[in-house]
Amino acid sequence: MNLEEFKKKSEEEIALAQKEVDDVKDENSLNLFKGKFLGKNSNLTSFFASMKTVPNEEKKDFGILLTNLKTKLNAFFQKKEEELKQIALNHRLEKERVDITLPGYQKELGSKHPFYAIVDDVTDFFLGLGYDVAEGPDVESDENNFELMNIPKDHPARDMQDSFSIDETTILRSHTSCVQARVMAVAKGQGPIKVICPGKVYRRDNDATHSHQFGQIEGLVISEDATFANLLETLTLLLRHLFGDKREVRFRPSFFPFTEPSVEADISCFECNGKGCSLCKHTGWIEILGSGMVNPNVLRLNGFDDKKYKGFAFGIGIDRVAMLKYGIDDIKRFYANDVNFIDQFRKE
Ligand SMILES: [Zn+2]
Repeated sequence: MNLEEFKKKSEEEIALAQKEVDDVKDENSLNLFKGKFLGKNSNLTSFFASMKTVPNEEKKDFGILLTNLKTKLNAFFQKKEEELKQIALNHRLEKERVDITLPGYQKELGSKHPFYAIVDDVTDFFLGLGYDVAEGPDVESDENNFELMNIPKDHPARDMQDSFSIDETTILRSHTSCVQARVMAVAKGQGPIKVICPGKVYRRDNDATHSHQFGQIEGLVISEDATFANLLETLTLLLRHLFGDKREVRFRPSFFPFTEPSVEADISCFECNGKGCSLCKHTGWIEILGSGMVNPNVLRLNGFDDKKYKGFAFGIGIDRVAMLKYGIDDIKRFYANDVNFIDQFRKE
């Protein structure tokens, strides 16, 4: 093959490759193209092989043409390879495109249980008055629950609280008053004390307004100058905080073994404003909580000098407050784990 012939063949090869590269649409046909024009059995390879038959004086020109041919064929291949890569990338980008106009996955947010809404509200109120929060275990000693609260064994006052026994000396606490004993034990006879103690308590009770499990928030203040007036003012502030500024608050004499004197607090009915309705049993008043001045016996039993210290205590029924505040008809709803019920207290 002389130089002229080779030049012609080389141009034909370039023209053919140019035409065929346009038909390459995917990786498969690109590989076929590469094999045909650049592979072992390609014309290019056989041109290189025929170099040895070319006369020496033509070798240089022949070589230039051959290199030029190889460069052009390679260029066709590389350009197409790049094009296909880009097409594949665009395709992927298109397919995996994030549609930011679609709504995202919504996380279902829970709502606070009405029981804990009251606990948090009352706790915040008392923290604002400088109280601490104390807690005790649900499984409590008979001593803390009864004896140190001035309710000795066989005292008839025990009948007011039908408790669950674990063994001879251990029960499920029947009120949060037992946390008073724990707080006073830590204080070792030294006041002042200002605490509230929220928690669950347990009694053998079962009707629409009573459950074997319910919640109380105990309050205890011990200081050298605590007065009955302080107690009345504290509870009046609390009840107006819970049920509104317009509520009248009245106190009635009552009896609790751990307080002397003892009072129960009522608020004017928020349904009928005191006129009388079914909620207030036509009395115009709703019973809310029990309280009183700490019985000197309780102070002495718990290591406090009752000549030096005075105190007052109160107990708030968490479920009762929540039932009144939210108009809940049955205490069991608090413990039924019914999402539809709890969801009503969602604050949007
Ligand atoms: Zn009423």
